[in-house]
Amino acid sequence: MPPTFAEARVDLGAITENIEFLRGRARGADVMGVVKADGYGHGMLPAARAMLAGGATWLGTAFIEEALRLRADGIRVPVVAWIVPPGEPLTAAIAADIDLGVSSLWLLEAIEAAAREAGRRARVHLKADTGLSRGGVTTDEWPAVVAAAARAEASGPIQVTGVWSHFACADEPGHPSISAQIAVFHEALEIAEKAGLRPDVRHLANSPATLTLPETHFDLVRTGIAGYGINPIPGLDVPELRPAMTLSTKIAMVKRVPAGSSISYGHRYTTARPSNLALVPLGYADGVPRAATDTAPVLAAGRRRTIAGTVCMDQFVVDLGDDAAAAGDRAVLFGPGDDGEPTAQDWADALGTIPYEIVTRIGQRVPRVHV
Ligand code: PLP
Repeated sequence: MPPTFAEARVDLGAITENIEFLRGRARGADVMGVVKADGYGHGMLPAARAMLAGGATWLGTAFIEEALRLRADGIRVPVVAWIVPPGEPLTAAIAADIDLGVSSLWLLEAIEAAAREAGRRARVHLKADTGLSRGGVTTDEWPAVVAAAARAEASGPIQVTGVWSHFACADEPGHPSISAQIAVFHEALEIAEKAGLRPDVRHLANSPATLTLPETHFDLVRTGIAGYGINPIPGLDVPELRPAMTLSTKIAMVKRVPAGSSISYGHRYTTARPSNLALVPLGYADGVPRAATDTAPVLAAGRRRTIAGTVCMDQFVVDLGDDAAAAGDRAVLFGPGDDGEPTAQDWADALGTIPYEIVTRIGQRVPRVHV
């Protein structure tokens, strides 16, 4: 049984409305809701359904196994799985009509063989490496992969449904790599077209590009973080986005300690005066990073406080000073920010990371409560 004292409450209506808003921003391009990593920690299946309700017509996952779970839940819209290492269940993916991202000739050939075995056409999205230098076919190899895909399409087992790429720095408006990647993507599309490929969807934009780079929308935008209501470009004014997740728990106990009390492992924090200490029952096993020690904010006893001392596996301490609280009172780690609670962005700022990491790392011990 998961504990009932902590919860990651997920406002599915917020996800739906965020996608409706992003659809408007996509100006005619289709919207893919990116639901990998358990829907960025929000619960993949409910998040996917909320995105579909908001008008997403595609879903995106990293792995085939995630895509198969969407199919097992009865979701029938096109789903792309884009990280496909050796040994993945290609035949099952093809049988379940899952589109596969292809970043190498090796994978194209493996999919072709699996499609023949499945007796069914495989839908693939050829990925061009336009400058991220992560997945994707390099510019040098692109013509050969495109030619092989065109041959496989002509002979039957492959259908090239998409040609796509991914940005390195779309969250840094004006970064010189953005225009360079767009130019390389146009060249990749031209080569594909000359080879006779006519993909249904050309796609490049993630959340930041959906919001700020309309020239990159093409036929489809892939929105992850913004669908969950988190602004992908801190400082960009997007009041329409509403964070869907609130992580909270109940204070386990409160006790009075004298000035000079050193707190938690390593005694990294010492009370400057007699204080009420609140024990908050969430720890690094639940996704509260140990690096949050003495830095991350929590709303407790009506005010924002900083975690006092080392975050443990299952708990941490907050120094309330003279403020009163009782066992059972709520402590909010992050949420939309409407009631004085910190946001996931505040946590990311405190920890020198991005909100993506904050929401995706919430542990399985914390129940997701969908409302
Ligand atoms: N496309 C790809 C290939 C991704 O890996 C991701 C997420 O990491 C996305 C789209 C969605 O990005 P974002 O969450 O910034 O919208």
